[in-house]
This record gives sequence, structure tokens and C-alpha cells, in this order.
Amino acid sequence: MGRGEAMIKGTTKNLGVMGWPIAHSLSPVLQNAAIEEAGIDYVYISLPVPTEKLKEAVAGLRAMQFTGWNVTIPHKQAIMAELDAVDEDARIIGAVNTVVNRDGHLMGYNTDCIGFMQPLAQQGFSPKGKEATILGAGGAARAVIWGLLRAKVRRITLGVRNPAKATRLAEEFAAYGEIQVLHWEDGAFLDHLAMTDLLVNTTPLGMYPHVEGMPPVDWTKLKKDALVYDIIYTPERTRFLSEAQEHGHAIINGEGMLAGQGAAAFTLWTGVAPDLALMKRALREELASRQGK
Ligand code: NAP
Repeated sequence: MGRGEAMIKGTTKNLGVMGWPIAHSLSPVLQNAAIEEAGIDYVYISLPVPTEKLKEAVAGLRAMQFTGWNVTIPHKQAIMAELDAVDEDARIIGAVNTVVNRDGHLMGYNTDCIGFMQPLAQQGFSPKGKEATILGAGGAARAVIWGLLRAKVRRITLGVRNPAKATRLAEEFAAYGEIQVLHWEDGAFLDHLAMTDLLVNTTPLGMYPHVEGMPPVDWTKLKKDALVYDIIYTPERTRFLSEAQEHGHAIINGEGMLAGQGAAAFTLWTGVAPDLALMKRALREELASRQGK
């Protein structure tokens, strides 16, 4: 990924992604493609930061006047204590994936939620008053839950393998809307599929290279016009989505969420709306080259 005719200069503003490990991150490709296309004087690099070095790293980026950065595993929760303020969505989700440096004041945001919701709107699906079922209840599910609660779903059902763990998560969100937890092999969960308008996979089951995996779903029980969304972005079409499509459901994959969270962060840093389609293309090309296709 080059910078076209542009060079990194003394004036170039710095952005990056902080995580550990970080070499696998797709964000530098996504963001530098958008920077190049927008013709703005920024550069986005990877920032390898081991867990115990987080405090020093944030102080360093603050001292070096970085414009902002993304935050990924393992720092999404811990970084909140190092910032000057955290916006309300990120506070409720309990994780920050984007930091913006406004004249030395470090503000934390969570753009995963925006990234998840955008493709639903593009598909013409309004969650208001709908029944949403989410498979899995880990880190990514938190942004999905908050996005749907904020959009006023009627109820969220978490279908999981470990209800005790998911119940603790559900309790954190209970003040904001109705949320129940069911074991995904229980009869009650199968019955619930019949009234589900939106089914979302937030587990890693089916992610490359374990492409044969998928969460347990009885497609014959799922409401006929339910929209099926997998937040996994590699492969492009998971087994979960292929089977959903074979059963006549409209589908959404995780590409839009990934590009969308990046685009929202880009706008927070630069004030410019990036070319989302270009970001998705850059992402797809990078994933294909990594898988040797
Ligand atoms: P995570 O925090 O580890 O949570 C994973 C969830 O899936 C947990 O509820 C976990 O259950 C469940 N799970 C994991 N392995 C399982 C298995 N073998 N059988 C049954 N359940 C299993 O992971 P995450 O950060 O939420 O990420 C989950 C997926 O979302 C990954 O594939 C990731 O690539 C994708 N993702 C996509 C985007 C995007 O922008 N498109 C953003 C973030 C994440 P337990 O709690 O019982 O372990």
C-alpha cells in the first residue's frame, strides 16, 4: 500500500492502531487506502503495545501529539483509565476502539457499534420493535447489543453455550431494554427462533481457516423472513450465511461492520467522510492476498 504521489512530510499527521499482537491488523490497509483516496496529509501505522506498556504508550502518543488511534485486543477496556474522557456509547459498551486527541485532551469512542448498525440501514432493516437474537456474548456482542438497544429493538435474546457468563453481560445492559439469555440447545431457544426478525452471529465459529464451523441453528425453525447477519468477515460468506441463504434468508457479512467502524473513526480524526466502498474493496483484496487466492 503506497501513498500515491504523497510523501510522509514534517506536516503529516499521525494515526495508528494499538494492540498486541498487531501484525495481523487490517486497519493500516483500510485507513491508508482511505487517506490516499481523500488526498489528505495523514499516515496510519501499527503500534505494537504489550499489555504492561499501555500507560507508557498512551503517554508517548500524547507527548508526540498523535491525532488519534484505534485500539484493539488486549487494550479496549484498559485504555479507558488512561483517557481524559470517554463518550457515553463507549462507556455503556465498556470498550474503546478509537481515541481522538483534541488539543491534548484524549477522548475515547466506540465505533464498532456504528459499524454494525450501518449495514442494517443499508439493507432497509429498522430494528425498532423487532425481536433480535444474538449468538455468542463476547466482546463484539457488546457493541451489537448496544446498537440494537439504542435502535429500540423489542427484545434481545442471547443464544449461548454458557448462559451463566452471558447472564452477567445481560445484566449490564438490563437498564436499557429487555434482554434474555437462553442456552442455544434448549427447546425454548428453538421456539424463540420462530419469532426472530434478526439473527446475528457474534461467535468466531466458521471464521477462516475453520470454515466448516457454525453455531447451531435449526433453519426450519427460524422465522421465514428473518434477516441473518454474521459479523465474521473472512470468509466472505461463512457456512452460517450460506445455509441461511439456501433457506431463503437475506444475509449480511462482517465486511461492512469492519469498514464502517474504520470509516467512523476516520471521520472523527479528520472531519472527512471516507470512501466506504473503497475501504471495503481494500479490505477484500488484502484478505484475498493473505489467503493466497
Ligand atoms: P470473544 O470476546 O472471544 O467472544 C466470542 C463469543 O463466542 C463468546 O460468547 C464465546 O463463548 C463464543 N464462542 C467462542 N468459541 C466458541 C465455540 N467453539 N463454541 C461456542 N461458542 C463459542 O470474541 P469477539 O471479540 O467477540 O469476536 C467474535 C467474532 O467477531 C470473531 O470472529 C471476530 O473476528 C468477529 N468480529 C468482527 C468484527 C467486525 O468488524 N466485523 C468486529 C469484532 C469482532 P464463551 O463466552 O462461552 O467463551
